[in-house]
Amino acid sequence: MSNLDLKYIRIPFDQIPFELNSENTCFFCGKQDSPQLHDAYTIIAQDSENAESVCLKCLLEKKYAIEHKVEGGFLKKEGILLESEKDPDIKNSYCYAEYILPIEKQLMAIDESKRQELMHTPPFSTFHGAVWLIHCNDFMTYIGNWEHEDFVEKSPNGNAQEYFDRILDNYNGDDFYEEQFSPNKLEYAESLFYAFECQHCKIHRGYVE
Ligand SMILES: [Zn+2]
Ligand SMILES: [Zn+2]
Repeated sequence: MSNLDLKYIRIPFDQIPFELNSENTCFFCGKQDSPQLHDAYTIIAQDSENAESVCLKCLLEKKYAIEHKVEGGFLKKEGILLESEKDPDIKNSYCYAEYILPIEKQLMAIDESKRQELMHTPPFSTFHGAVWLIHCNDFMTYIGNWEHEDFVEKSPNGNAQEYFDRILDNYNGDDFYEEQFSPNKLEYAESLFYAFECQHCKIHRGYVE
């Protein structure tokens, strides 16, 4: 299986929402030989935002861009839309000053060129849409779904659950790792951990769905 190896994503081709589909031709190149985007992502392009079908090759050739959800907000055609601009009520929430505002500031500090690079990067397949995490004033690199063996291998002392708790972005309760990822996980466990690596300091972070 071949891999996608870009600045912001390093995973096998079959883990992005692009599919080989002979029925559609790409709006930009008119061809069917490159995988076509099949999820509900908004594309950004001059005069062709209603393009029904677009291919991976044309994204990588920057013929169009894709709007992305990132930590703290959204990368849109018009620029950055902060979480608190989309939903002003957030400013009244108890966690705004402590958690949301700092991450919004980090997002605002990322260079335009990096935002452009991410918007020309394919998203990864998820249940509810990809969210890019941020570290060291840059977007992190998405490196795939982690399972128990990955946490064991990556943790400094082999304690998978401890490492999971340390790098997890969203809290899910005390028994969560045991039930969803450990060797004794529930039969119907279906949570996924989306893992990221910072290309600058090499730290790992991730979130679960
Ligand atoms: Zn194309
Ligand atoms: Zn970092």
